[in-house]
Amino acid sequence: MDEEQRFLREAVSLARSNMENGGCPFGAVVVKDGEVIATGVNEMGRTGDPTSHAELNALRAAAKALQSLRLEGCAVYASGQPCPMCLAAMRMAGITEIAYAHSNAQAEPYGLSTSAIYGNWPSRSRNRPCAFAMYVLKRKMRCRFMTNGRNGNRQS
Ligand SMILES: [Zn+2]
Repeated sequence: MDEEQRFLREAVSLARSNMENGGCPFGAVVVKDGEVIATGVNEMGRTGDPTSHAELNALRAAAKALQSLRLEGCAVYASGQPCPMCLAAMRMAGITEIAYAHSNAQAEPYGLSTSAIYGNWPSRSRNRPCAFAMYVLKRKMRCRFMTNGRNGNRQS
């Protein structure tokens, strides 16, 4: 079994365990230098948090493990095709290598596809000018969450 298959099987195994424990069948692992550094499962039901997707939980654990908000050089292996929220979070953290075991098309018959979200943004979403937002942008404020002194947010 090649490395990619091994990591995908681990993500699927996490998804299966989560499902057997009453959760949704989604799992993800974050890999760096050929090693799993973090895992995550969907915990929406347990936490009541609609953003508690497997990939996001794995990213949170990876950031904690590496003490960095930047996850360049990491790869994410997920049981299912990442939703737009998770995909955006992975890209914003610098992850460019993503693999998944089941596509949205394969998940569709089970009601687990997120493909509709890609082209269906909220109709009430709109840009509303805000003076404070412009002040923050102009100041180019940067977030420093981590204790290691590195600038954690290069998006600003
Ligand atoms: Zn997601």
